[in-house]
Amino acid sequence: MRSITIPAETIPVTEEADICVIGGSCTGLFAAVRAARLGAKVVLLEKHNRFGGAATAGLVCMWHSIFDITGERQIIGGLTFEMMERLEKRGAIGEFRKGGPHVPRIPFNSNELTLELDALAQEHPQIRTCFHTFYSRPVMNGDGTISAVIAENKSGRFAVAAKFFIDASGDGLLCRAAGYPMRRAGNPQPPTACALLENYRKAGRIDLKELIEQNRSRYPDLPCGYSWGTAVPGSDDVYMLSATRILNCDCMDADAITQAEFESRRQIRALTSLLRETAPEAHISLQGLPSEIGIRESCHIVSAGPLRGKEMLTGTCYRDTIGAGTYPVDIHGNADDSISFLHLTGSRQYFRSRTLVREERWLPEGEFLPFYRIPLSCLIPGGAKNLIAAGRMLDADGDSFGAVRVMVNLNQCGEAAGVAACCALNSGKAITEIDGAAVRNELNRGGSLIPEA
Ligand SMILES: Cc1cc2nc3c(=O)[nH]c(=O)nc-3n(C[C@H](O)[C@H](O)[C@H](O)COP(=O)(O)OP(=O)(O)OC[C@H]3O[C@@H](n4cnc5c(N)ncnc54)[C@H](O)[C@@H]3O)c2cc1C
Repeated sequence: MRSITIPAETIPVTEEADICVIGGSCTGLFAAVRAARLGAKVVLLEKHNRFGGAATAGLVCMWHSIFDITGERQIIGGLTFEMMERLEKRGAIGEFRKGGPHVPRIPFNSNELTLELDALAQEHPQIRTCFHTFYSRPVMNGDGTISAVIAENKSGRFAVAAKFFIDASGDGLLCRAAGYPMRRAGNPQPPTACALLENYRKAGRIDLKELIEQNRSRYPDLPCGYSWGTAVPGSDDVYMLSATRILNCDCMDADAITQAEFESRRQIRALTSLLRETAPEAHISLQGLPSEIGIRESCHIVSAGPLRGKEMLTGTCYRDTIGAGTYPVDIHGNADDSISFLHLTGSRQYFRSRTLVREERWLPEGEFLPFYRIPLSCLIPGGAKNLIAAGRMLDADGDSFGAVRVMVNLNQCGEAAGVAACCALNSGKAITEIDGAAVRNELNRGGSLIPEA
């Protein structure tokens, strides 16, 4: 392959902070807010024009229960709850004050979330936000710490110098470039592009799977057939449909992800054509496409304390617990339209073509797990000093990742990363030496409801 050599370059350090956060999904912004509330000066770099990541740019507008599965104990508070309350005031979120064994789904309006995240960030003047800004690489010190990151935007190339870094890029871009080992998921969950459809519900009850199967020969671009969706709160007519699936895609490969964008939009095109043909009287129209395909899983950091399904799903109480959740293990097939669930009620289900093909108990009859816990250790790249990861790149095996990957869980990881970064800065210790219990106590002092036991 041809190569070119770029001359050595002097880059201005235009930003200096205590903490630099890469990526501004709720995970990244919540990390920044928690750190700012503890007095840190934070710079946040985000390549899009807004906060929210998959929840806004990706149109994924569904959070899940903040209660344990008995519905009696609220286990998630903090910034997720604050944001839910803010969205409630704008009529932009579904019911979130009730729990139950079937883990309530909580739809929200992605555009309203964008506005509320803007407001949240701007209420914290210690956070300097750089939108339209692409993080590109770290600058390392001789002792293995990161001294700065290089970023680029319309104004040019610049460096952000900081004492601590939080990688909330989803893909673990900073962890990887800083030289920490990364692990590709063996069988990663597939990416999906969502779409906003107007008047979808006016078409009445449509069996999308059957419709797709009957028309596949006429519309070869139709997706595999698994779908879910929700009416968007605040609107009578707009429906978010998540019906595409790109099989066997390497989401860390730029070319593969480009082709996945094309393919997912071909799938949406075929689907909307078929829906219009099937229900012409409904006047279904395509009102929104994501500005980026939704990536469920790409790669993971390698930590000293990975999250393992067999521990997490037996209710392990970690010394460094920093979050709790109830979302089931939900694994989308990477090679077909299958999906499997492992519910905390004790049942395991396997669906193929939206048909339940197998159901069994993984817990003895009558037993259930009220909630599981998430440890701080799975966010810390092995040997890292002034770096922590928060988001879907966390160190989790297939089962535990299937559960923790949802936003109410990753939001908590973001908050924990922000607080852990402050603990490291204030104590002068490496992140690996931080006491997870102290991080949890600080989180709970700031509004989290992380169960102690
Ligand atoms: C189709 C689909 C449906 C899903 N359904 C649900 C659901 O119903 N409920 C649920 O809770 N979860 C759901 N999930 C999972 C959930 O959305 C994700 O796991 C979660 O949003 C990941 O959060 P994150 O912060 O790790 O990453 P992201 O949300 O991907 O955020 C990463 C951020 O980093 C920014 N970034 C990346 N690289 C750079 C760079 N170089 N420079 C600057 N900024 C950068 C990105 O722009 C983005 O804002 C779904 C996922 C998909 C794909």
